[in-house]
Amino acid sequence: MIGLGTGRRPDRIVAVGAHCDDIAIGAGGTLLTLCLAHPGIRVDALVLTGGGGEREQEERAALAAFCPGADLRLTVHKLPDGRLPAHWDEAKGAVEELRAGTEPDLVLAPRTDDAHQDHRGLAKLMTTAFRDHLTLGYEIVKWDGDLGRPSAYQPLSTEVAEEKVRLLQEHYPSQRHRPWYDREAFLGLARIRGIECHSRYAEAFAVTKLTLNLGG
Ligand SMILES: [Zn+2]
Repeated sequence: MIGLGTGRRPDRIVAVGAHCDDIAIGAGGTLLTLCLAHPGIRVDALVLTGGGGEREQEERAALAAFCPGADLRLTVHKLPDGRLPAHWDEAKGAVEELRAGTEPDLVLAPRTDDAHQDHRGLAKLMTTAFRDHLTLGYEIVKWDGDLGRPSAYQPLSTEVAEEKVRLLQEHYPSQRHRPWYDREAFLGLARIRGIECHSRYAEAFAVTKLTLNLGG
């Protein structure tokens, strides 16, 4: 299997989440891998809910740790959790503002077929604003059982996979009570995705469109 790159050194990426911790759970290992390989890379991150409180503080510390050496610009909005469809215009405005502020080489976002309406809604908004960008849809394990068959894999070194789990447990104390928020769940999914791409660990993504450049 050929490991496809971005074709050049990535300068800017975008990462979005409906909730604080979505980006870190879905793509924390990929963020670590990218930021360690490309010091100074700009990361424009947007989170739609959790602004102004404890969860925003957690998210700021967490993403700073997940993006070592990066030029991280994080915006956390205050939309109500679980009610994104009722606040569609505000969410759309936030995404359009993000789009106006950067021209990313890569976008990390939820999957358009995620079972959580907030995740799915944000994923759909992203494809309307970032129309000419490689967008990787990350996975979040949940009760609904919506994991599918991913099409793209980022292998993770054992060190990065372990660091991801450690940072998730260190930086989101508000989530530790959740029954699925544990080391086995995070590392277990990464191990399964690793098996699927001949690696020890990996994060997997849904890709709806990919333009190739086989002619060079
Ligand atoms: Zn979420």
